Amino acid sequence: METAEIVGVGSELIRGETLDTNTAEVARSLRPYALEIWRTFRVADDVERLARTARELWSKTRLLVFLGGLGPTPDDVTTEAVARGLGLELEEDPEMLAQIAARFERMGRRMTGRNRKQARKPAAARWLANPRGTAPGWWLREGGRDLVVLPGPPDEWRPMWESLLPQLGLPHSGFVRRAVKTFGLGESQIMELIADVWDRGVTSGIYAHPDGVHLTAEGEPRAVDGWIAAVAERLRDHVWGYDEDTLPALVQAWLQERGATIATMESLTGGLLAGLLTDVPGSSKSFLGGVVSYSMGAKARFGVPAETLTAHGVVSGETAAAMAGAARELLGTTYGLATTGVAGPDELENKPVGTVYVGVAGPDRVEARLYRFPPLGREALRQRSAFAALAYFWSLQR
Ligand code: ATP
Repeated sequence: METAEIVGVGSELIRGETLDTNTAEVARSLRPYALEIWRTFRVADDVERLARTARELWSKTRLLVFLGGLGPTPDDVTTEAVARGLGLELEEDPEMLAQIAARFERMGRRMTGRNRKQARKPAAARWLANPRGTAPGWWLREGGRDLVVLPGPPDEWRPMWESLLPQLGLPHSGFVRRAVKTFGLGESQIMELIADVWDRGVTSGIYAHPDGVHLTAEGEPRAVDGWIAAVAERLRDHVWGYDEDTLPALVQAWLQERGATIATMESLTGGLLAGLLTDVPGSSKSFLGGVVSYSMGAKARFGVPAETLTAHGVVSGETAAAMAGAARELLGTTYGLATTGVAGPDELENKPVGTVYVGVAGPDRVEARLYRFPPLGREALRQRSAFAALAYFWSLQR
């Protein structure tokens, strides 16, 4: 299979000051095409090394994409370096220069001599207009192969790339990619359950995320659909969604279809659960609000019976259930959802780090469930717990 090569340009990418998401995003956008991408690059703002990278990659790839380093400052060297690597002369385009000057005038700023270099490209290349910035990109087609040079800011290159992609005439793979999303089982437990299905006619993947383990399949549409159905059948109740589904969106849609509402009371998640619920546009129709009852005093004040707290402890199923009930009472919602647990680093009430209870209160029932997570570290545990609350709520309603 032919390849695509993607290069993020910038010393700040190597130092970790900017996290390189550009190369991954371009790779993802190329998934529908029959191009192999087995590596991506980050290269410093260094003309010689960047030129060498361009020369080596261009000699044997169908598509080569550079992102970043098109600005006006001296460390923006991508155009110069790529042209040097390919042995091409740069030319100043008077029309582009006039456009850049006009743009500066509209913004009430004076164009500096430095911006001149943004009007230079190899003669054989075509400009790619950048409606959101001053640095245009350029595109060179040579012998049925494509070289694309784009600016670094995602908001700028994204629309440029979207309109260019269909013009590149890349071969389609005919493949699709789908996902099954689960909560509550670890990767090794899952592998035991699906070992015989695992590589049946698709390229499969398994990835742990804060919202659980996702299993993916890529290949012919029929083989992929068959694989997804077989895996979902094995993992049954642990499956909460597919493909682009997210737990907050599923929960919110479910509530809104029924005209139902929800409120939260959070201890160890400290507001993360409310944050997830409000990630969804239009969430105010179903999520009425939540409280963070971090101390025992706050729990009591918000309506958790003092007897429950003293008899069972703060980290207990009884307290989680009472918190969910209290949230429901406080805001007069259909459901209440609560989290309490031990985020660490120290134990609490003799319960180990990773002990988490989720409580759900509804019109008919109040219940709680215990999760025992490994001691993942505070932040990961809190995230996992917030998703556990949504996964548990979702599993009860289906
Ligand atoms: P402009 O002149 O519009 O800034 P540029 O091509 O010079 O364009 P860079 O200076 O390389 O762009 O990067 C500008 C910004 O774009 C960075 O500060 C960063 O926010 C973002 N950016 C650059 N490269 C990447 C990358 N690989 N992944 C994610 N963001 C990036």
